[in-house]
Amino acid sequence: MMSTPIEMITDENELQSAGFYWRERDGVRALICAPLERDGFANAFSTRLGGVSPMPEQALNLAGFNEDDAENIYENRRRFLKLFDDDWLLTGCWQVHGIDVRVVHSAAEAQSKPGVLGDDEYCDALVSDTPNVLLAIKTADCVPVLIGDHVTRSFAAVHAGWRGTSSSIVKLAIAKLQREFRARAEDMRAAIGPAANACCYEVGTEVISVFKERFPPANKLFTATREGHARIDLHQANRDQLIEAGISSDHIHIAPFCTMDRNDLFFSYRREKQKHGRVGRLMSVIGTR
Ligand SMILES: [Zn+2]
Repeated sequence: MMSTPIEMITDENELQSAGFYWRERDGVRALICAPLERDGFANAFSTRLGGVSPMPEQALNLAGFNEDDAENIYENRRRFLKLFDDDWLLTGCWQVHGIDVRVVHSAAEAQSKPGVLGDDEYCDALVSDTPNVLLAIKTADCVPVLIGDHVTRSFAAVHAGWRGTSSSIVKLAIAKLQREFRARAEDMRAAIGPAANACCYEVGTEVISVFKERFPPANKLFTATREGHARIDLHQANRDQLIEAGISSDHIHIAPFCTMDRNDLFFSYRREKQKHGRVGRLMSVIGTR
């Protein structure tokens, strides 16, 4: 698997028409959203390839200190950051499936404690306009969303699992960009990364009822499976919310990957938790110079 050429593991045409391409350096591979990059935003959605973690092997696990050695994670982060040419300050948060949006006003704020990536801050979305800061969101099936506004050069990274999506967290991040940086939705572009998709992600009545209560047309997000269960389309739900917030549909790019189907490329909590007990974390990052 590790030596499989990139063109063998994905349909290049499909990838390109979705607005993405692969970047590889020293065996580390990531998906880049090309239009977001052309707008001036460094960005990447990591894969599991090219790391040092035994999950099960050569895995690029970028977070989850309770499930992997810290030195593995730091080495993997160094390898991941080599995909970018400049020095970047990586900053994230301790994600709690909540609705708080952290504003990173300066490089000093991005730094927090050395090496801990702002993991002491509890939130599920980050916004900033500070150059050379890479905002990072960690996922393994949840939906990562990156947003950039080319006019104010402000940007956001959002963690949208079913809870975050049901709370319209991408809209909260956009509202924060508008308030903090006077950004306008019509100037924004968004990239939605690999996640557990409608082809695989089955949920039960607790999730279904939350969505039906909060979003009257939520039926279209679900495909019924067995009694009390349905598969949910979180890519579509987040796309709908981005459009409702005012982002043009042709400024929204969805990576054509399901983390549960493409467990060879991505970590999947739902596929691996039972099997291995431990699951690696992907990282989605955005920043500007
Ligand atoms: Zn799938």
